[in-house]
Amino acid sequence: RSICICGRRIVPLCRGKEMTERPSHLFYQGRQRRPVLDQARGVYMWDVDGKRYLDGSSGAMVCNIGHSNENVLEAMRRQMEKSTFGYRLHFETEASENLAAKTAAICPEGLNRVFFVSGGSEAVESAMKLARQYALAIGQEKRWKIISRAPSYHGCTLGALAITSYDPLTKPFDPMMQAMPKVPAPRAYLDGLDPEDEATGHHYADMLEAKILEEGPDSVLAFIVEPVGGASTGALPPPKGYMERVQEICRKHDVLLILDEVMTGAGRTGRFLACDHWKLEPDIIVMSKGFAAGYVPLGAMAAHERLVEAVLDQGGFLHGYTYAGNPLACAAGVAVIDEIERQGLTRNSAVMGKKLMERLRGLMQRYPIIGDVRGMGLLTAFEFMADRGTKAPLPKHLKAFDRFVNIAYDKGLIVYSRRTRNGVEGDHIIIAPPMIVTETHLDE
Ligand code: PLP
Repeated sequence: RSICICGRRIVPLCRGKEMTERPSHLFYQGRQRRPVLDQARGVYMWDVDGKRYLDGSSGAMVCNIGHSNENVLEAMRRQMEKSTFGYRLHFETEASENLAAKTAAICPEGLNRVFFVSGGSEAVESAMKLARQYALAIGQEKRWKIISRAPSYHGCTLGALAITSYDPLTKPFDPMMQAMPKVPAPRAYLDGLDPEDEATGHHYADMLEAKILEEGPDSVLAFIVEPVGGASTGALPPPKGYMERVQEICRKHDVLLILDEVMTGAGRTGRFLACDHWKLEPDIIVMSKGFAAGYVPLGAMAAHERLVEAVLDQGGFLHGYTYAGNPLACAAGVAVIDEIERQGLTRNSAVMGKKLMERLRGLMQRYPIIGDVRGMGLLTAFEFMADRGTKAPLPKHLKAFDRFVNIAYDKGLIVYSRRTRNGVEGDHIIIAPPMIVTETHLDE
């Protein structure tokens, strides 16, 4: 029995059963083939051969409320019987009005204007364009630069990719994008700094101020940040004092603060929005993933009314997608938020997150290749290292990343894996199960 992937053929991942090569019209990343999904319920998924998997990463940190929740399915059924589509320029719908009101209510004060989209990249594009139109509306046409962090991930469309910093995904497209300034993400654990020390947070935040001054403050439009670093840094919470100082610096230089809560929103970090941990008052928040928990494609941008009013005064937002505010998506979004609230899932994320971290720390004690464990709520990760002292990554030839993921598959566990060090080896595995998990699932 082999579990490696060679060329076109994936050799058996499923115990005792050869997975034969299938012709496929799909092409995603490599030539890798994965099992064919049949059903999913709660925290479990089954492939067509009946093999069961524990969804240890909620897909890509999406299915926060678990799979096939009956109340969400029922709400979707009801909406589909009423109407499945209404074009946003022709109709408002009850579903989109309800979801907008719910979204505004969970956002910090003032962020009461909501724009719906179908995913995270679209939400980020929308934020970039709204910010730019706001600058134009208030007579600051020189402001167009959006500073982001390196590494970071904000999406795969060309605008969102320009503010993403992750070489394997961005490099080939560099000539097609407007280069945007970057500041280092606060990876205190690699820099030998104490994340619990406020001086560390200020050290990294002050790099933002230095960058704003270097670029020329009147050219900088916004700073975009994932409150807890997601795919590119692996569930990395900010050091103490970082987020508050970042906000202060943005205010001082009239730079808009955009929080990318695509991954951290919808209860994932133990608060409904991660910004609630620091009581931040950003100008724009973007959300997706757990917002409709994978039941339908949905994302949202919530913006401060001051921005939106200025843009509307100038004739309106020059942006919009055909599927924006799709009634079925919005009905699912409302039902998902209701389920999060009804079942107290945000609180469960905080409680279970602590218990998950204890277990991951236990693994770190047992396995020297786990060099770091981190996270917030049920967004956690561990990183493989060859040496905890030097933080050296595992050598490339070990292919630890692929091997770990394949062994996990073999044992019926889904995890989310990414390179951490911007293309240089350094592998992290994100563990972020649905927020309905119990301790029994964590033990499993
Ligand atoms: N922003 C963040 C923080 C993300 O993690 C992602 C996706 O992983 C995106 C944006 C892009 O979202 P989508 O893949 O839905 O376009």
